[in-house]
Amino acid sequence: TPALSITDLRKSFGPAKIIQGVNLEIEKGERHAIIGPNGAGKSTLFNLISGGYHPTSGSIRLNGTEIGGTKPYLINRMGLSRSFQVSNIFANMSVRENVRCGVLYSMGYGYSFWRNVGNLKEVQRKTAEILEKVDLLDKANLPAALLPYADQRTLEIAITIAGGAEVILLDEPTAGMSHSETERAVALIKQATEGKTLVIVEHDMGVVFNMADRISVLVYGEIIATGAPSEIRGDPRVREAYLGDEADALE
Ligand code: ADP
Ligand code: MG
Ligand code: MG
Repeated sequence: TPALSITDLRKSFGPAKIIQGVNLEIEKGERHAIIGPNGAGKSTLFNLISGGYHPTSGSIRLNGTEIGGTKPYLINRMGLSRSFQVSNIFANMSVRENVRCGVLYSMGYGYSFWRNVGNLKEVQRKTAEILEKVDLLDKANLPAALLPYADQRTLEIAITIAGGAEVILLDEPTAGMSHSETERAVALIKQATEGKTLVIVEHDMGVVFNMADRISVLVYGEIIATGAPSEIRGDPRVREAYLGDEADALE
């Protein structure tokens, strides 16, 4: 069974048809990028998959189980976790506390109850392991608000992977980062999601063509092409609708 299997998925807001019949299969362990212009419906697709929105119609299966319309925390406990384009971190909490929230969320606990959690040691251990993985251990006690912007984005990724989900959705993780910050973030993401299923929305085509096993191109709520990077780069419809001459620079 694929990690994710989406069939004829549709979402309307009033008269606006935002997702218009998306079909997509993502294998376990695959790195899949979703690209497309602003307003294409990429974040809406993530919101449908992660339970933030109810589909208008169609099916979303996670490891073979239908999850369309299921509450986000239940989908999270089934092994799917997503990051947000606009960061979801708690600015007044420390870096460590933010990551601990991600660990606790996947275990079904709200943050304020964390001292009552039976396996406290396990929570601490997992939290430290994630901080180490994303190289934020030395900043663990800082309030998240004091982190430089790129580290805040990295913290968002850390929270997303903290629960140990096997399917990870990242929405524009490198947006606003410099070239060197982006390179560092890509290395961290690759390492921290090794062996997992990764779906990434990303505008930086260097990142996309570096990371993705396959790419889907979403335009006005429809996937106009899915394929290996080499196929997507050479697809005239993709060039016309989105990539333009940028396609020439990609390899
Ligand atoms: P992308 O992530 O590809 O830039 P979005 O999924 O954020 O695009 O948005 C796609 C379209 O759906 C936009 O036109 C946006 O205004 C619209 N949209 C998204 N969420 C809602 C909502 N809750 N209500 C109405 N329209 C929405
Ligand atoms: Mg956008
Ligand atoms: Mg978006």
